[in-house]
Amino acid sequence: MKILVINAGSSSMKYQLIDMTDESVLAKGNCERIGIDGHFKHSTGDGRVFETDVTMTNHTEAFVQIKNALISEEYGVIQSLDEVSAVGHRIVQGGSLFSESVLVNEEVIKGIESLIPLAPLHNAAHVQGIRACLEVFGDKVPEVVVFDTAFHSTMPEKAFIYPVPYEYYEKYAVRRYGFHGTSHRYVSHRCAELMGKDLKDLKMITCHLGNGSSITAIKDGKVIDTSMGLTPLDGIMMGTRTGSLDPSVVTFIAEQEHLSAEEMDTMLNKKSGFLGISGISSDDRDVTAAAESGNPRAQLAIDILEYDILKYIGSYTAVLGGVDAIVFTAGIGENQSSHRSSVCHALEFMGVKIDDQLNEQMIRGKEGKISTEDSAVAVYVIPTNEELVIARDTMALVK
Ligand code: ADP
Repeated sequence: MKILVINAGSSSMKYQLIDMTDESVLAKGNCERIGIDGHFKHSTGDGRVFETDVTMTNHTEAFVQIKNALISEEYGVIQSLDEVSAVGHRIVQGGSLFSESVLVNEEVIKGIESLIPLAPLHNAAHVQGIRACLEVFGDKVPEVVVFDTAFHSTMPEKAFIYPVPYEYYEKYAVRRYGFHGTSHRYVSHRCAELMGKDLKDLKMITCHLGNGSSITAIKDGKVIDTSMGLTPLDGIMMGTRTGSLDPSVVTFIAEQEHLSAEEMDTMLNKKSGFLGISGISSDDRDVTAAAESGNPRAQLAIDILEYDILKYIGSYTAVLGGVDAIVFTAGIGENQSSHRSSVCHALEFMGVKIDDQLNEQMIRGKEGKISTEDSAVAVYVIPTNEELVIARDTMALVK
């Protein structure tokens, strides 16, 4: 069975075609700058690459590019579209409507549309992706939607209700939802597998650290708290996002600078975090390089990030009543061993011990344990694979 995984953004459409017999990636790529000018990149599992500038005025035109590449004589990986058994879509916001992956029908599309106010850029783009797919494939090929929020739907009320007047929860569904759920789900299950234990018997903290970052506490196999909130702005500091703040910082700066709600939103989401503090870049590699050459604000950005991670692990350890395993994943978590080292050495007070050499080696897609045998807490680096989870859910529902 071959499954096409689609991740539609407002101006992009990423895809992977996965052969479920061995879960190998046959082809993957991205349509970028949809509705602007258009750039398309496609690569195959056996190393063929096709890249071109091509105008794509909407998601349906982007989808046609993907379809043509998949069946192309030179860069294709299948003979015809009939070989695609199903399509799985990543959806950012499932709200309180969707606590698990489901097959797409008109009612499901309406549900995703009804959540657009909670994730305007993302959910609107996802619906376009689903409709584009329906237009090209027709309704012969089943489609499945997998939600970033679903894994977090087990959180108790005390973790997801914000202490603003309750009516805003009732009127607008303002609450903590949490994101990166597919990633937290994948690495937590994989960690339990590597430990030879049942996830239900483990207290785990998973740290997804990328351009966007979130940390999740898992107990009895269920999420009990997570750092992102109503939107992916909450929690730890990120590439360009603030993470948690005293809310008065927002109203105070808005007043002083005469900024509208929209301008504040841009400042908090696009100009803050690593970029805002360092003044150099949103990319951890650039900021780390600048810190190493003595830039004090780059160093400060790194100190804040590591401090935030440490604080979340500390508070989630209390919330869980102890912790058996900590997992690092995503671009920064998988590659920046220096942050893992700082955080884990600061956790020595609770028995965390890592092997520094192992930690330094565990980069660029390597998976494994970096804690010592006598560490009270197991620490793992696990490369995330959200596309694979989407493909597996899709296969399970289609079967
Ligand atoms: P996204 O949230 O967009 O999926 P990623 O998970 O790719 O982001 O993470 C991007 C971050 O990971 C960047 O800050 C980047 O510096 C860091 N990163 C990615 N790859 C590497 C690498 N090979 N070495 C060091 N850092 C990396």
